[in-house]
Amino acid sequence: MERVLVLGGNFAGLTSALEAKRHTRGRDVEVKVVSKTDYFLYVPSMIWVPFREREVSQITRPVPKILAKRDVAFSQAEATHIDPERQVVSTTRGEEPYDYLVIATGPKFDYSKLEGSDPKLGFNHAVHDPELIMQTREDFDRLVADPGPVVVGAAPGASCIGAAYEFLFNLDYYLRVHGVRDRVDVTWVTPEPYAGHFGMDGIRGGERLLKGLLHRQGIRLYENTAIASVSDEGVTLADGTQLPSKFTMIMPAFSGQDVILNSGAGIGNAAGFIPVNGAFQHPDYPNIFSAGVAIDVEKPFTSQVPLGIPKTGFPADIEGKLVGKNVGRLATGRTDLEQRPFRDIPGVCVLDAGHKEVIMYANKFFKPRQVEFMLPNPFYDITKRFLERYFLFKEERALAQLP
Ligand SMILES: Cc1cc2nc3c(=O)[nH]c(=O)nc-3n(C[C@H](O)[C@H](O)[C@H](O)COP(=O)(O)OP(=O)(O)OC[C@H]3O[C@@H](n4cnc5c(N)ncnc54)[C@H](O)[C@@H]3O)c2cc1C
Repeated sequence: MERVLVLGGNFAGLTSALEAKRHTRGRDVEVKVVSKTDYFLYVPSMIWVPFREREVSQITRPVPKILAKRDVAFSQAEATHIDPERQVVSTTRGEEPYDYLVIATGPKFDYSKLEGSDPKLGFNHAVHDPELIMQTREDFDRLVADPGPVVVGAAPGASCIGAAYEFLFNLDYYLRVHGVRDRVDVTWVTPEPYAGHFGMDGIRGGERLLKGLLHRQGIRLYENTAIASVSDEGVTLADGTQLPSKFTMIMPAFSGQDVILNSGAGIGNAAGFIPVNGAFQHPDYPNIFSAGVAIDVEKPFTSQVPLGIPKTGFPADIEGKLVGKNVGRLATGRTDLEQRPFRDIPGVCVLDAGHKEVIMYANKFFKPRQVEFMLPNPFYDITKRFLERYFLFKEERALAQLP
């Protein structure tokens, strides 16, 4: 029997596991997921939780139940070390042997790189973590009761700029809903060379559109700007400028998870991301694959302030499908692997702008591209809401093969 072990049970991990199972149906192949969390979290809707537009329970689904539908095993545990020579992963619930390993452990939100930014210190707020986000909600309520200046932005090296923009525009929207926007100064600080770059070298028309939106909403912009620290007073920029803030949300830089950093040289790079080829296969360990935010992507552009690549949910889903197929092929004796390098995956994203949205499409993640556009929908964020329903439908029915 061949054993496929998948680390991580969200976008990339769930898709990889279900697809590996589908591509090995009827063969003597066991697929197992080991994940720290036992739920699928539709992360894109987390930006609505602080404003009570969603509860976390509405955007989570139980992973063991989903996997059981397709006869995939599950263990809720944290992977702590990978030994590629012995082909064993150490976890908090014992050792897991494998013949094929898929690493889909996503990012670590690395607050250690920006002084004072750990939300547990109480100066900064998180939008990704189901527990920390309840503090964000509580402090937003306090801001509404006692308005003051707000700073939203992204730290040097941050990758998830789009999500920070979404939080910014939703905060602006809900401050208006509560009738206090005129008493709140809102500032946006971004490491992007220009607003609308998004860590993907921009999309035609994006800079004009984003800057127009910021201007229309009365949001002050600091672009190409490094933040030096966060404190109870506010945010300090690298040039010494002080931005007073009563409520701060700075998206941190991402690194790979500790399990990669602790597994020694060879599995991941210095930042803890996994190098992969066009088949999403490790260049040195042909039985190790990776998908989603866990992979290393070479940046095809430079920026004055460090800036990461937005490895979003759309590529994570495509990569999960490809990895599931390729692992399935190897586990059933085939040697031909499908290739689809990250740079050739389309960039597709919907940016929620507070009951408005911007649809972004690029036929390739990086330039040169043949087709790229940003389409504003000023009437309602219907596409974002539709995608949420669709993804939750597809995940809870274990239909990972759907687009
Ligand atoms: C606030 C926010 C909004 C976003 N909005 C959008 C959007 O609108 N559109 C979009 O396309 N993308 C969006 N993204 C990005 C999107 O969420 C990610 O691309 C996606 O979650 C990546 O999936 P993943 O499976 O690689 O990682 P994750 O979703 O982070 O999943 C990682 C999994 O690994 C598990 N894990 C971690 N460490 C271990 C370990 N040591 N052992 C075992 N298991 C482990 C975790 O429990 C989890 O199950 C957003 C991100 C954020 C933070």
